[in-house]
This record gives sequence, C-alpha cells and structure tokens, in this order.
Amino acid sequence: MPKTDAAEALAALRAGLPVERARRALAGLMRAANPDTPALDARLLVQAATGLSHAAIIAEADRPLTAEQAARLRAFARRRLAGEPVSRILGRREFFGRVFEITPHVLDPRPETELLVEAALRLRPHVERLHATPPVACDLGAGSGAIIVSLLAEWPGLHGLALDISPPALRVARRNAVRHGVARRLLCVRGDWLEPVGGPLNLMLANPPYIPQTDIAALRREVREHDPHLALSGGADGLMAYRAIARRARAVLRPGGWLLTEVGAGQAKAVRELFLRAGLTAEETVLPSILPDLAGIGRVVALKANN
Ligand code: GLN
Repeated sequence: MPKTDAAEALAALRAGLPVERARRALAGLMRAANPDTPALDARLLVQAATGLSHAAIIAEADRPLTAEQAARLRAFARRRLAGEPVSRILGRREFFGRVFEITPHVLDPRPETELLVEAALRLRPHVERLHATPPVACDLGAGSGAIIVSLLAEWPGLHGLALDISPPALRVARRNAVRHGVARRLLCVRGDWLEPVGGPLNLMLANPPYIPQTDIAALRREVREHDPHLALSGGADGLMAYRAIARRARAVLRPGGWLLTEVGAGQAKAVRELFLRAGLTAEETVLPSILPDLAGIGRVVALKANN
C-alpha cells in the first residue's frame, strides 16, 4: 500500500466508526503491509484499544469508537506498521495457555518453546519417583519466566530457580510468577548461567540465545529490533551458551536428573554431542534425546545425568 493510502486508512480510524468496521479496516491495512497474521493482529489491537473482549466485538459490532479509543488504535496501528510485534505493543504474550507480561528486557516467548515445557512434564513421574524431597527445576536465562512459571503452575510440588544475568528480566519473571500464583515456589537469582548454582537439581531447563552472531543482521525486523540482543546472540557459532552450561551441567544435576534445552534449527546434533562429552547420557526410552517441533525440526535436546 503506498504511503498516502496507508495514511488515509489510518485517518479513517476515527471516533464514531463502529468497532467491527474499525477491525476490518485495520486488518486490510495490515494485510497490505504484509505481516503474517493481519486478522488476528487487528482483532487484538482493537480489543486492547477499546477494552472490549473478543465476544463483545462480535456482539456489539456497531458500537462506535470514542475519540480516545480511536486515537489509541491509530497509535497502535502505526507501531505495528513500523514492524513492532503485537505482543510488544500490548506488553503481553500468551504461552502454554497463560498470559505473560513482557518488556523490552525479555525475549518474546515463542510457541516452539512450549515443547520444552511439555517435555519436562513428561518427566514428572520419573522425577517424583526418584527422590523423597521436593524436586527442583532450574531455568537458565529465564527471561520473562515463561518456561519455569508455566512448569510450576502445571506441577504442584515442584520448586523452581530462575536464573538470568539481567536484573530487569528477573523482575519480569518475578511478576509473572506472582501473576500465576507460583511465586512462593520460585527463587529468582541473578547469575551468569550456572555460576550461582551449587546443585543438586532434578531438572535443568534452558532456551538460551542460539543465533550465530553473523546471522543477527538477517533476522526479521520484528525479532532484530524488538528482542533483546542478549537473548538472541549465541556468539560466533551460536553455541556459546550451551558450552557455558555444559561446563557445569554434570556437577549440578542430581543422579537421575535431566537437562532439557531448546536449540536452533540444525543445531540439535551438535548440542547433543556437546552435552554427551560433558558426561550426560542419551537415555532415549523415557524421552528421545532429540524432540522435533511441529515443523519437524529438532527443537529440544533431552539428556540424563546417570545414577
Ligand atoms: N527462557 C526465556 C524464553 O524462552 C528467554 C530465552 C532467551 O532469552 N533466550 O522465553
């Protein structure tokens, strides 16, 4: 859409316009700008600008926008058209069925990462059978806390440790823990990977930065300009964080404990090799050592510390 047409379409989002027409106009505007999910983006932004639920937008399709709602909607639309993801505009993202606060200091949690939480939940009976004391899971580079907070919410009796090098990220993780009622079971600690941990852990989870430094410039604008660099860059070959974790993994995992880590496309075998050399084992029967995501890409590496 040429710039002047976009400006006109934006200006049409004004007081008095019925919400459903505003939603449709916005979706058209976004489709022209070519994002992946224009209809969903438009609906979420209309909901946020008006305070109406999805159901209310349908039931009260003719309700006119107030001047304030229209101004908010235009501001949101401009930001989206400039490449800012809807989750960043709203400051929240749904992950594993729960809403998480996100800020510019944390990675926007991705749907692929839900696989890590699912895999950890599959280990629950094995972990609980092994020890009498409450199990402890650690999330390395916790960011928003999406992984560990989801896991604690799904697994009563589990205790968690959220580690991150960024204090503002830890504050977001803490608020998300409070929001989902698991704060009493979660300790948030600043640290450089495993440095503050003495062990022993039953589960070690991580979605570390894994993009090779030279690939960062080629990432989509949504990612490159809005996810923190610290949460993306995995150093020269993308594997720096895994090496840092592998150095102490065996020492802090309990015998029978598990490491579960997300990996980038094409990295699964190299990452598995790195942790095998660090003394972990590919167990395969309880969990395959490489779990594919919905696109069939090896996405989670799962290895065990032998008894
Ligand atoms: N653990 C967080 C997440 O998966 C942050 C990951 C990161 O910053 N690389 O959302």
